[in-house]
Amino acid sequence: MSSILYVDLSRIAHNLSVVSDQVGKDVKKMAVVKDDAYGHGAVPVARHLEGQVDYFCVAKLAEAIELREAGIDIPILVFEIPPLGSEHLYRKFDITASISDLSVFERLEDGTHCHLHFDTGMFRLGMLPEHATAASEKMKEFDKLNFTGIYTHFANSDDPGHERVLQQLETFKSIRTLFPEHLMTHTCNSGAIFFFGDHGTYFDAVRPGVCLYGYAPGETEIEKLEPALEWVSHLVQVKKINKGGAVGYGSRWKAPEDGWLGTIPVGYADGIFRILSGKIQVEIAGQLYQQVGTISMDYMTVFLRNDYFEQGEPVVILRNRELSAKEWARIAGTIPYEITTTIHPKVKREYRT
Ligand SMILES: *Cc1c(COP(=O)(O)O)cnc(C)c1O
Repeated sequence: MSSILYVDLSRIAHNLSVVSDQVGKDVKKMAVVKDDAYGHGAVPVARHLEGQVDYFCVAKLAEAIELREAGIDIPILVFEIPPLGSEHLYRKFDITASISDLSVFERLEDGTHCHLHFDTGMFRLGMLPEHATAASEKMKEFDKLNFTGIYTHFANSDDPGHERVLQQLETFKSIRTLFPEHLMTHTCNSGAIFFFGDHGTYFDAVRPGVCLYGYAPGETEIEKLEPALEWVSHLVQVKKINKGGAVGYGSRWKAPEDGWLGTIPVGYADGIFRILSGKIQVEIAGQLYQQVGTISMDYMTVFLRNDYFEQGEPVVILRNRELSAKEWARIAGTIPYEITTTIHPKVKREYRT
């Protein structure tokens, strides 16, 4: 095995309790486990959280069916517009559909659970505010559907105080008045949970995603969150390098002094972006060492300075602080979501509780 990705489920549960403390006991939790729980493994994460949340949310119907087939029993909300021809599967697997388009009402089978989804300014999925009246009429027309919720999604909630969140909230509130009281109302992703709680965004339920895995969604840190991943590989070769020796494709790094060089059997095909070349550190025997030279498809190299290690010595690639997905994201000009979801499925996940 070239590397193992350890997923600490108890940290994910801890992060959920941080959300709980933030929103209060009476607000329901809809844990977002889309895209294999942001790369952490949807089934193990869902099994671990099932007793502590009220819903799971996924992007695609296929992900919801996977959870049902794994024995997950609680409600599951799918964000996507039901794929044509798949409508019966919502009933069959008791999965909650999102009605993000007026055309969806007539496609769903009688009895299907569904949440109305309004686009209040994200301009991705959802019915526009001008469709709200038509939607409330469709709700009466298709009264055999089982309407259980209503929601919207914010475009700027990772930015504390951003006024567009408040504009979207006002638009949503006015839409909400057209629909029955009993519908479960929800608007908050991680950013809105932590940065907009004072504005009455919680309603009946919240949809935490990235915060469950231990990362704040934007630039503002959330101290109590703990990253759940620890990615560990090992040294497959250790060799001497003399001052001036050039390492890797393009010989882009030259040894500043005589020392040892270690080779690690993971590269960009595992999900370590090539753009991180020479910019990340790894931890060996409790010490940080600089990754050097161009990251290649299956390997990368680390300068061990004067420290010699045996072949097989464990190497921590990703964990927290200097080694966190947040730090990689900062260097690569992206967000931790993209780092964790692109760790290749071939990397074996092992679960700790
Ligand atoms: C992904 C997603 C979430 C969770 O967002 P985070 O920023 O990861 O908390 C919530 N709601 C919807 C509709 C989403 O697509």
